[in-house]
Amino acid sequence: MYRITLLATSLTLVACQSPAPLDSSTGADSLESTSSTDGYGSAGYDDPYFPLLGNGGYDVEHYRIVLDVDVATNHIEGFATIDAVADEDLSRFNLDLSGLEVSGIRVNGESASFWREGQELVIVPAMTLSANTPFQTTVTYSGMPEVVPLPGLPIPGIGWMHERELIITMSEPTGAMNWYPCNNHQLDKATHEFEITVASDYVVAANGILNSVQTRGDKQRYHFVASDPMATYLSTVNIGRFDVEELVGPNELPLTFYFPPATKEEIREGFRRTPEMITTLSEWFGPYPFECYGGVVAGAGPPAALETQTLPVYGGKSPGIGVQIHELTHQWFGNSVSFESWRDLWLAEAFASYAQWLWTEKTGDEGSIVETVERYYGYLSEAEHELMGDPGVEHLFGLGVYVRGPVALHALRLEIGDEAFFGTLKAWTSTFKNSAAGAKDFIALAEQHSDRDLAEFFEAWLYSSELPAIPAMNLPAPKAEEPEG
Ligand SMILES: [Zn+2]
Repeated sequence: MYRITLLATSLTLVACQSPAPLDSSTGADSLESTSSTDGYGSAGYDDPYFPLLGNGGYDVEHYRIVLDVDVATNHIEGFATIDAVADEDLSRFNLDLSGLEVSGIRVNGESASFWREGQELVIVPAMTLSANTPFQTTVTYSGMPEVVPLPGLPIPGIGWMHERELIITMSEPTGAMNWYPCNNHQLDKATHEFEITVASDYVVAANGILNSVQTRGDKQRYHFVASDPMATYLSTVNIGRFDVEELVGPNELPLTFYFPPATKEEIREGFRRTPEMITTLSEWFGPYPFECYGGVVAGAGPPAALETQTLPVYGGKSPGIGVQIHELTHQWFGNSVSFESWRDLWLAEAFASYAQWLWTEKTGDEGSIVETVERYYGYLSEAEHELMGDPGVEHLFGLGVYVRGPVALHALRLEIGDEAFFGTLKAWTSTFKNSAAGAKDFIALAEQHSDRDLAEFFEAWLYSSELPAIPAMNLPAPKAEEPEG
């Protein structure tokens, strides 16, 4: 994600301390996240920040989400079909769903009983599901999605959002469950398919490739197929009055952009540089990982952008090139290669932010990368910030990840040299493509490519509150304050 207010090129950086209420997913009041017993799939993956996200006992392969949407009232109605494989014999399992009304559930065509406990939708199939066997669950539901609150963000919440004649979906990290029942954690990626019916004067933009648009009376059904495995927080459906612009990227990559009609020509021109951006980023990070790319300019909504897979969404003011580079970089870092737990968010954000500096280094747009790193290092040495490798839920989107992250990557680059640094990045995106990995995996790859022991280096940058020196830039570590008394 990119918060426009946080990461403007000026140094008006403010650590966010919104007093937002605790997300129910962090509270774990009513349900303990436990490992499976008695054929019950567990209620969560024990993610250190969001223990109830995801569910044990099965792996989702595919989601088909079929919804009728009334944009004016934000009412949705339809069903989701979830194809999964049981990991163990299951007499009961959970999906994550926040709000909405569930009117019926079928498992393998048979009516199933179910109940709600907070964000957990607990399902008891008519027959116990056998280990290593595929099964299909269909959940019929309706209602008006309500955003999922997230501590630390200065917006009401995340997920499916409605603003007059516009719907946009930005769900990082917990929001996807406000519009479809899912296994809501990046450790279980799946392909997605969306069939969204809206009044004919709206346009739908979703992840993947637009397969068809069918007219049904005064409505149209848009069918998108996203064939690359995707974490639920990266799924997106956007509905508005958009101009659609199609381009062709490197290797015939289809690119589709959605702009509100009032979008200025200079903004559209910026997006037309996407083929050049993809070419450059592919040189740094390896081949572009997905089947297509594009973007949605919302022209409204929260002042943030999200790297929703193959189709970033840009809320608030119209985005500049830096934000576009950031969200494009996430397709490699965070989307194709997911971080194993939310504590490791730096494995996405440090790279997306550092790529913005690499871009300015290449294009010479905003001074040299040395000046940029010095400026942010100076800022960090004064500003209190959380641990880069363990920022806590309330500072997930704070300076520790977004500013110390890219500074640390530059320090690593100076420490091991360009060849080992970019070799590590390319090995990372190819080794863990369409998968997930953690800090230990990244450190191991960097050690392998540099033939160095980097344990101390990473310990200092990731898990120590003191800001390490960058000797190669002559940036000494800030002096620790003398304890008083
Ligand atoms: Zn980001």
